[in-house]
Order: sequence, then structure tokens, then C-alpha cells
Amino acid sequence: MLYHSILRKVFVDPWNTLQGRFTKPVLNYLELHLTDHCNLNCRGCGHFSPIADKWFASLDEHDRDMHRLSELLSTIRQIRLMGGEPLLHPEVASFLKSTRAWFPSADIRIVTNGLLLPKMPELFWGACATARIGIDVTVYPPFLRLAPKWRGIGRAKGVPMFMEYTELFYRFGNFSGDSNPESSFRSCRSKFYCPFLRQGKLYVCGGPALCQYPNKYFGTHIPSTYSIDLYEEGITGRKILAELDRPVNTCSYCCEHPSQFKWGVSNKSQEEWDAKA
Ligand code: SF4
Ligand code: SF4
Repeated sequence: MLYHSILRKVFVDPWNTLQGRFTKPVLNYLELHLTDHCNLNCRGCGHFSPIADKWFASLDEHDRDMHRLSELLSTIRQIRLMGGEPLLHPEVASFLKSTRAWFPSADIRIVTNGLLLPKMPELFWGACATARIGIDVTVYPPFLRLAPKWRGIGRAKGVPMFMEYTELFYRFGNFSGDSNPESSFRSCRSKFYCPFLRQGKLYVCGGPALCQYPNKYFGTHIPSTYSIDLYEEGITGRKILAELDRPVNTCSYCCEHPSQFKWGVSNKSQEEWDAKA
């Protein structure tokens, strides 16, 4: 047994590593949730947090999925850990460490609305600094005056902060499902590339992974189609990239031309998300 594992270490692992270097593709971007719920309640939140359940990602599952992705891909250029509000997760620091362990060269960010930053413990700041994690802060209109303070905290902790001032939201949905999926997909991909990981499966975006929430809250029937099971036999990095570039049937439930509206507080009505409601 020991002999086998030494042989594997000496001959097989370097071969796999070398082969992987030339054959495994790069994924440009990946996002995932640490929580689905949020401490803010934004109108038309793109990830349905105002109507989402209280949900926390599992650290074991995350670690397993990151490991699996590192076997399939040579790297991921940018990984964003988000929500909901990811700083609500009590194990947030461990998620950062795990992500860095499997993707040493990725640009890893945690995405927050900033409100919890002043309350975060040293454990969190230490993990950000050691694992070279940047913080993307989405600053909404009511909190503009807090942004300099948040930036100052990051500076003091030696953690890069990237502030994004956001006033406009997109309304993507057409919950009647009569859009041309190809046109919606191409229109959306011309603006965003946002593959989404959840519980061992990759989706073209967060929509198909999270549409359980509008379905439950509004009684709609948006199909939840995942593109790729990371553990399916025969799956490769190249197949993953190809699948992520194809529309899924959830795309019929998106508008080809999403409208924009100004930030506001959600009253959880369907028209916040559904252009045809
Ligand atoms: S802060 Fe972000 S995740 Fe939270 S409700 Fe607003 S848009 Fe959604
Ligand atoms: S479901 Fe399709 S069209 Fe809608 S946002 Fe996702 S990728 Fe774009």
C-alpha cells in the first residue's frame, strides 16, 4: 500500500500535474453563496434575498467542491464569495482559507454590503490578510457616508477594499417564461459572465440555483436547471466551459432587455423581479 502511494507520488502525481497544466482550462469567474439571507432588504435583489430562507453554506461541502474544481480546472481567475450577506456566516474565515488553499493564484473576493465590517472579529481580518482576500463593498445610497469609515478599517487591517457605489438595479425576470432563451442568454452574457456554484453543481448564473425562492413565494414555475454536476462521470474542465456557454431553460424566464430601476427597500412584491407582473 505504502509502496503504491510512493510510486503514485513519484510518477503519477507529477504526470497529472504536468498534464493538467497543458490540458486543464481556466475558468474566468465563479460566484457562490455563503448565505442566502441578508441583513438588508433591497428591492428586486438579484439573488432574491428578501424572499429567501435563512440558509448557510456548509464548510465541508465548500471544501469538497473547491477541491473538485481544482482537479478539473487549472485555475479560476476570480472567485467571489457572496450572498445574501456572507459576513453573517459564523465560519466565514474558514471559507476564505479553504478557497485559497485550493486556488493559490485566484483573485478571491468576499462581497458585502459593508454594514457588518465594523463588527467583524480579528479572526476574519487575519484570514483576509493571510489568505490574500480582497473585500468588494457594494455601497447603497443610504450608506454613502459610512463608506470612508469602512475603507479606513480595511486599510488599518491591511486588507484591500474595492468600493462599488450602486444606485441602479436590473429587473431581469419574465416569470411567464415566454422569452426566447437564446436571445435572453446572449443579451445577458453580453453584460455579465457569472457562473454560480452551489452544492456540487455549476449553473450558468445564480438564477436557476435560486429560483426556488420566487417559486415558493409567488407560486411561479421557473425551472431550476443546473448545467453541470461536478461529480458526474466523465466530466472535464472543457465540458464545463462549453456547458456554461449554453442557454438553459431558465433563460426563457429572463427578459432580453432588462429594465433598470433605482435602489429602494423591498416590499416583496412580484413586480420587483418580474417585468411582466
Ligand atoms: S445587500 Fe445585496 S444581497 Fe442583500 S438584499 Fe441588497 S442586493 Fe440583495
Ligand atoms: S437564467 Fe440565463 S438569461 Fe437569465 S440571467 Fe441566467 S444566464 Fe442570463
